[in-house]
Amino acid sequence: MSSVELLSRFDSFLEEKKSNGSKIIAFLAHDNIPIELLEAAGFTPLPLIFAGNDELMDASHTYLPPSTCSYAQSCIGYFSSAPRMYEFLNLADYILLSNHCVSNICVSEVISDNFNLDRLDFYVSYTRNSNALKYYKIELNHLKKKIEDITRERIPDYKIKENIIRRNDFKKKVEEVSKLNIMGSEKLKMYQEAMLFGPEIQPEIEQFIETHRNTSQSKNNSKKIIFTGCSIFIGDYLIDLIEEIGGNIILFDTWIGNNYYSQTFSDKILNSIDDPMELLTNRFENNVYGDHCVPNSLENKIIFIENYVNDYHKKFGNKLGVINHIIKFCDHFSLFQSAFKERLQERGVQVLNLERDYSRSIRGQLSTRIEAFMEMI
Ligand code: SF4
Repeated sequence: MSSVELLSRFDSFLEEKKSNGSKIIAFLAHDNIPIELLEAAGFTPLPLIFAGNDELMDASHTYLPPSTCSYAQSCIGYFSSAPRMYEFLNLADYILLSNHCVSNICVSEVISDNFNLDRLDFYVSYTRNSNALKYYKIELNHLKKKIEDITRERIPDYKIKENIIRRNDFKKKVEEVSKLNIMGSEKLKMYQEAMLFGPEIQPEIEQFIETHRNTSQSKNNSKKIIFTGCSIFIGDYLIDLIEEIGGNIILFDTWIGNNYYSQTFSDKILNSIDDPMELLTNRFENNVYGDHCVPNSLENKIIFIENYVNDYHKKFGNKLGVINHIIKFCDHFSLFQSAFKERLQERGVQVLNLERDYSRSIRGQLSTRIEAFMEMI
């Protein structure tokens, strides 16, 4: 399915939800958003996982300086351009503000203040001690209360837990996609689709896995890549560019990819914790690979990648290269890029720090840099 078809299908999906009375809630699709709580209240999540372009970035400069990250600029562009690039954005009722980074806060404020979307706030601690966990739980309950005030209906615990179990099963299915021997672009499409539609497309994902379980579509002579840093959003040409040059991404260590499907609960945890807020807090506690400035997040990421590279080498004999994708002015990834590259290269892993914005004019430069990197692997 092409990006255009995917987005047109998402448009119909949201239209139907809206006509059935569901409230549509948009958010910047980073980690730690309690989607199951939103779903238990009958809300439909609208993760903003769409790539930018020159016009969208330019359209944001009335509101924020051009030194804001290019993804955040584009998010404002989606809402401020008239007519909007994607009609389904007109269906959004709320924006969920979270403090994943400063840009996340600013963009959500701008969208809410200027484009007629009510705002719900959800703040997350930058640490992982016992107070941080208490704080996360307080914020969950605070968000729950605000949603209940809107819907004038209590959200029963059992409903939140049902949604947690449903999404948990779903994510485990999505994880199976990551193990298929297919090209990275096909996996990425499934991850993006999974994030847009959620568990409702589980049968489709299962069918996809069945169809591809025994196929071997990945090119054997392709250069195998771990892709980390910022996600590749829908409509971005980057994945095609990498594959045209002879690369194949075998692991998307990004919000759309491993960060999404790896955050699951074991049956033991699901059976032993009844309180759904406790479960969501447990997930937050264990999310130590994210980029949300958790203590030792850089070290955790380096160890994770080094282990993955070594395991892959032992199993398949291939050396993996790492592309660290940095959307321009994304503080989370640009601040650590030199240390990230240096420390992995000391351990024998080749890293390309690929910093870019969404300008069409830089495609040639990206191509040259990726090509040179592929030759080094
Ligand atoms: S600065 Fe980075 S983490 Fe923040 S919105 Fe931009 S891409 Fe996301």
